Amino acid sequence: MTFVTGLTCVICHKTYPADYAGYVCSDHGNEGILDVRYDYERIGATFTRDTLAGNRDRTMWRYRPLMPVAPDAAVPPLTVGATPMYDATPLAATLGLSKVWVKDEGRQPTASLKDRASAMAVVKAQERGADIVTTASTGNAAAALAGIAASVGQRTVIFVPASAPEAKIAQLLAYGSTVVLVNGTYGEAFDLCMEASAEYGWYNRNTGYNPFMTEGKKTAGLEILEDLKWEPPDAIFVSVGDGSIIGGIHKAMKDAVALGWIHRQPRIFGIQSAGSDYLVQAFESGEDVLTKPPISADTVADSISADLPRDRIKAMAAVTETGGSYLRVPDAEILAAIPTLARGSGVFAEPAGAAPYAGLVAATEQGLVSSDDRVVLLATGSGLKDVASAMKSVAAAGTKPLRVDPNLDALKAAFNN
Ligand SMILES: *Cc1c(COP(=O)(O)O)cnc(C)c1O
Ligand SMILES: [Zn+2]
Repeated sequence: MTFVTGLTCVICHKTYPADYAGYVCSDHGNEGILDVRYDYERIGATFTRDTLAGNRDRTMWRYRPLMPVAPDAAVPPLTVGATPMYDATPLAATLGLSKVWVKDEGRQPTASLKDRASAMAVVKAQERGADIVTTASTGNAAAALAGIAASVGQRTVIFVPASAPEAKIAQLLAYGSTVVLVNGTYGEAFDLCMEASAEYGWYNRNTGYNPFMTEGKKTAGLEILEDLKWEPPDAIFVSVGDGSIIGGIHKAMKDAVALGWIHRQPRIFGIQSAGSDYLVQAFESGEDVLTKPPISADTVADSISADLPRDRIKAMAAVTETGGSYLRVPDAEILAAIPTLARGSGVFAEPAGAAPYAGLVAATEQGLVSSDDRVVLLATGSGLKDVASAMKSVAAAGTKPLRVDPNLDALKAAFNN
């Protein structure tokens, strides 16, 4: 038994039973994303901040009463969650802020936050006895599903744009997925994956479609709160592609408020590339994201390249309901953020993982963050995911290695003394 009371459509609020076999609201099709609802009163009766503190399981499954997963359900053996959050004193000093923490999701088993959702997908797929699980992805969700599925012997078919960074494709192939490289955008890969899963009856992990992915991703938000002893930060910066991570972070905050574990929500800031800024546009113009047409996305930050953010309703609510903001940052600033973040915190992130830092700089300049604010940056993926972009970023920063012959004179010459 879980504490789920039902699944509610984000558009019409119609509620489906907890064991609903579909993915989305039958009246609203693929836009009718469902939100998992819980009986917080019953959860709170046995699950408290104190019981949590006594739980030696440090993985994401420590929050299981707040998940659509039965207490005795088997979960994959890989250690998902429990990522460190570092006090980045040099970054805080540079920005003139009282506290900046960096949560390093690059430390996940497949090196991105997506492991939290994919672990959930594998549990749900196995619950349904699925033969095959599928997803479309810009790369990280795919790598996460492939790796976690491999850990339990679950078969997967994965759709990624052929342009995905090589490291991500290497992961898929190493983990043994059936890999479909689509000659097209992520959006086109997504549509093909949706058609194929309907045709073949595969379990579908797609972001902004499968309602349980948010419930996995929110564990990052719960960890942030627990690490800070339930003293919420003032602001959390999250990079946004489909908008599922930011929705998950918001869900964590709402869960914690509902349980009385925190009494105010942090302001949530969604950071997008200027080349993939659908939600920033909608935030600025007040356009309804349900009817706003897709844009044509193009950014170096492949993980947040989205023509039409699939989870845009939850993504917009995360910002508007917490008094945050959507901000766009140019690709050059995203790239520049890679070495700055690495040098100021020790965390080496891929472009989408460094983008929140660029967003924080913009927010500080615009007066959206003040010097006494305590700020969390979510570094969503490892820098090793996209070495080509990392090399571009250090070249742009003017960082060059010294190239020398193997003797001390040559070294001294290179050092100029
Ligand atoms: C997926 C991803 C994002 C964006 O998450 P969305 O849920 O698509 O908004 C950001 N950073 C990294 C590294 C990702 O893999
Ligand atoms: Zn509906």
